[in-house]
Amino acid sequence: MTTLIRGGTLVDGAGERRADLLLEDGRIAAEGTNLAGDTVLDASGCLVFPGFIDGHTHLDMPVSGTVTADDFRTGSEAALLGGTTLLIDFATQDKGGTLAQALAVWHSRADGRCACDYGFHMAVTDWNEHTRRELHEMADAGVTSFKAYYAYDTLMLSDPEMYDLLCEMREIGGILGVHCENGPVLDRLRAQAAAAGHTDPSWHPRTRPSIIEGEAVGRFLRLAELAGAPAWVVHLSTADGLSEIRAARARGQRVIVESCPQYFTLDESVYDVPDFEAAKYVCSPPLRPLSDQRMLWGALEQGEIDILSTDHCSFNFKGQKELGRDDFRLIPNGMPGIEHRPTVMYTAAVASGRMTAVELVRLLAENPAKLFGVWERKGSLTPGKDADVVIYDPRASQTISAQTQRQNCDYTPYEGFRTAGAVRDVFLRGIHAVQGGKLMETGCGQYVARGKMR
Ligand code: MN
Ligand code: MN
Repeated sequence: MTTLIRGGTLVDGAGERRADLLLEDGRIAAEGTNLAGDTVLDASGCLVFPGFIDGHTHLDMPVSGTVTADDFRTGSEAALLGGTTLLIDFATQDKGGTLAQALAVWHSRADGRCACDYGFHMAVTDWNEHTRRELHEMADAGVTSFKAYYAYDTLMLSDPEMYDLLCEMREIGGILGVHCENGPVLDRLRAQAAAAGHTDPSWHPRTRPSIIEGEAVGRFLRLAELAGAPAWVVHLSTADGLSEIRAARARGQRVIVESCPQYFTLDESVYDVPDFEAAKYVCSPPLRPLSDQRMLWGALEQGEIDILSTDHCSFNFKGQKELGRDDFRLIPNGMPGIEHRPTVMYTAAVASGRMTAVELVRLLAENPAKLFGVWERKGSLTPGKDADVVIYDPRASQTISAQTQRQNCDYTPYEGFRTAGAVRDVFLRGIHAVQGGKLMETGCGQYVARGKMR
């Protein structure tokens, strides 16, 4: 059984070309002209991308006494409708628990429920000899990327623990991503603000100024240098952090830089709205001044940023964000975004003329595939790879709205955003799961055991 995608423009990291694409038995079989297929799908006028990869999501995750609004079913359905065919979520060790337990818990939440393929990073929160030994078992189970936090009491590691973990990454050929905010100091700023009677959400960004990120990025990169390990800076949001990254790269270090659409398309002015509406935008790191946003755009255009992920971590405004109505410190941190990353970034980056579609697809597919160890199977339209394919119609337009989104959340930070283009069809390993913008197949996602970073 073969499917021919005919008349489109193929776009992957290798370039842009007019060609047809033949899918067979779940794989990309051939690229060319005059090909024949059992089923023919017209893609004229459309761009044909490899399936996008979201390397940073939090689904079905307990946080701040509640649980994220999206679980693996709703989150992965939203992802697939937006053209994301692989998501990598953060399994997270409990303090006092093991990595094996965390991996089992995340499998129990995800297995059998996902509409797109999925994998797991492992967040290490309890560093000890047992955890050290378990890292090897994780790599054997297809978990080759790890995460550590410089913030949040229940998650954070100390500097010596971070150093140990970085040294261990070298041993297993893994990559460590770090949430770079100085947690103890920002907790002090939050306590001071609360003591002064400041309770509204505008104090969220005010107590997480850019130096809180920049200092932690610099510390992480110095420890990575000492350990001789590559470093993955997750969700970069500031010029301060960027300058630390530039310094590390100038020293010859390998630094993988991740940022997210919200830091390119939204800014701190969203916190000026009255009442409690600003709680919708409470995420960490927070949205930043336009001066930071301009620096990030420059870095993106210069190729200094490697991957764009969502940091999707959704909470409903009603009942969840409202937990912090009397104290901004109790607002669960995070925003939805897994559904809209490709259209938002195509609109903001490609349709605006800032970068080419080829450059964007490297950020959304090729680079994450290489960094997260799935390049053998995913991330481009090369024959032999999984038939994860997105047909994108650049002539279409949609208005993003909570009313019409699949994300299981009562708001979207992109409400009213007009997209340039829309995802029309999505194939997941050859399964025609999204047709004409409608989800036709769900629950077909498979766990992806990942190899080493390239
Ligand atoms: Mn984080
Ligand atoms: Mn995150």
